[in-house]
Amino acid sequence: MTEPLDVAGAVVHFLRQRQELGLATLTLDSMSRADLEQILRTAGARRTLPQAVHAAEPRSATVASSPRAPRAAQQYRAQHLMAQSPTPQHLMAQSPTPQAPMEAPRRGGDLGELPDALPVLQALCAGCTRCGLSETRTRTVFADGNPGARLMVVGEAPGQNEDEQGLPFVGRAGLLLDLLLQTIGHSRRDSVYICNVIKCRPPGNRNPTREEIATCTPYLKQQIALVRPSILLALGTFAGQFLSGKDDPLGQLRRDVHAYEGVPLVVTYHPAALLRNSGWIPATWQDLQRVGRMLRELPGAAP
Ligand code: URA
Repeated sequence: MTEPLDVAGAVVHFLRQRQELGLATLTLDSMSRADLEQILRTAGARRTLPQAVHAAEPRSATVASSPRAPRAAQQYRAQHLMAQSPTPQHLMAQSPTPQAPMEAPRRGGDLGELPDALPVLQALCAGCTRCGLSETRTRTVFADGNPGARLMVVGEAPGQNEDEQGLPFVGRAGLLLDLLLQTIGHSRRDSVYICNVIKCRPPGNRNPTREEIATCTPYLKQQIALVRPSILLALGTFAGQFLSGKDDPLGQLRRDVHAYEGVPLVVTYHPAALLRNSGWIPATWQDLQRVGRMLRELPGAAP
């Protein structure tokens, strides 16, 4: 028997941990304490928020920093909190408390050892200034969906809507992705974790550079290590080439099931490309069906 995921407990732990790290700002940039408590209640929390969090809040009862403050806690949306899935211990905020406060990663700086809890990794990423994209982004876009999912979808980089909302695939391409996932009976609300190779929007939606990919991908690698998906689905050339480690064109990459660190990897067209060329939709649909079959064949999968 598996226990329901104690996400509310993890959020409380996360907030407490942030305070211990000396991060007095950043956690809630537009959510009041009352809002957060409401979400925790909805998620069935039996614990109350630590008083320390209260003390960290300014008079307005929200933790505000700069206008570009990341929304680490907000991104942990109610739908995450509602997720009922096994309790993977590595998803809980259990990283040992560092001796020194966590510093925002700076340009040219070494990222070093990354946090072993997703909320802490997200908070670190939210303050990242390791490349020029940090100067033009509105928000970092870390992930959406269920961190306990067996399927992890990796796109390219945030677009305008994602940059504004701080969540991946929320524009038209995202809607199409949601529909494609529905064809195999999955959704980000329940059973898919979604993120990108690059966490900040490249200006004008240009392609990410090799340097930007190299600078940003430690976050993705650590996300994969923490989520431990059973299957990876790469959307588009950048995600496909990065995860497969091959420079082949997408048409070739999608023919085989590859592996990333032992995790089976399927590569397919990016939904934004499908919006430009609907002729690729049948092939993408077939790739999704392949993923659906692979998920059904996993040990313990529902028939
Ligand atoms: N395209 C991507 O690759 N990622 C997003 O989050 C949105 C559009």
